[in-house]
Amino acid sequence: MKSKAMVVKAPGRMELETFELKKTPDDHVLVKTNVTSVCSTDIKVLKGNTPVGQYPVIMGHEIAGEVVELGKKAHHLYDFKPHDKITIEPYIACGKCEHSRSKHYYHYCNHGGIYGISLACDKPPHLYGGYSEYFYLKPGSLVHRQNKNMADSAASISSVVANGVRWIKTLGQVTFGESVVISGPGSQGLCSLAAALHSGANPVIVLGKNGDEKRLELAKEFGAHHVINVDQQNPVTTVLELIPEGADVVVETSGTSEGIQAAIQIVRRVGRIVNIGISGGVETPIKFDDLVWKSVSIINGLGQAGNVDDAMKLIDTGKFPFEKINNFTYRLEDLAKAIEDTEKRPKGFIKGAIVF
Ligand SMILES: [Zn+2]
Repeated sequence: MKSKAMVVKAPGRMELETFELKKTPDDHVLVKTNVTSVCSTDIKVLKGNTPVGQYPVIMGHEIAGEVVELGKKAHHLYDFKPHDKITIEPYIACGKCEHSRSKHYYHYCNHGGIYGISLACDKPPHLYGGYSEYFYLKPGSLVHRQNKNMADSAASISSVVANGVRWIKTLGQVTFGESVVISGPGSQGLCSLAAALHSGANPVIVLGKNGDEKRLELAKEFGAHHVINVDQQNPVTTVLELIPEGADVVVETSGTSEGIQAAIQIVRRVGRIVNIGISGGVETPIKFDDLVWKSVSIINGLGQAGNVDDAMKLIDTGKFPFEKINNFTYRLEDLAKAIEDTEKRPKGFIKGAIVF
């Protein structure tokens, strides 16, 4: 058996290669890839702009697939069997250090690895990334079963849905009846929207910009009570017309100075801002007096750890069209184009995926 895979040989250089599948290592599991979603992190890995990237590497860490074969000892590690459909978490924690034993911060473990980013493909069994027809599960992998009715496209973004769950539930602690504003209608914002609606938040308002029309349209389809194009309407005055006391929780995914400053004005007294955007080092002037007078908390943090079980339940409700987030699909051979689209966002683009 063989597996075609796109290999980033070195930063900036990607080639299609064919790997011979040898005997599955005893503690590994061989999985056939169904869908791998393209993440903006892939742009950084391809360009060499991440400190954790190892080369050569097969990228791809948002994966849904089907179990082909368990290694001799892997039967003791997992309770699934061939033909079961699964999705994986990108992080492999060591299971020994303090972080890796915590429920929600095991992504700070430095001893494990990250599929498609820090697991190089130069040594057997090579295949530790989703841009490959087959890949292997390493020991310590966090694997989630995909129920029969769940679309592969939705299962592949289990970690993205889990980010939304984390920001709304774990960090934002949103409860029934609270008002939520989500700044940024990309896949992360849409998944936060679903988590907020499922938590009973009302109203939930999504902010986007020119060029986000398709994303805001999908936000409406998910059930957003209001969507606002901040290039056409002032976000602060428009939100405060809808909820005069301000929002209980603002999820700031844009990472821009304007976004953070608007969030501070939009949030109500004793409200929370969940700040997860990355600016790339841009400094944002903040009047801390505003935070003190309003008793505002800004909660910062990374994406999911320990949130995928909830995410799978959220997808399984069938209440939200997660499968529509990956609205641009590509063949493996066209990965370079998929990554270019992820960076340049052609008209109507929400998120791309490689479909096998
Ligand atoms: Zn560790």
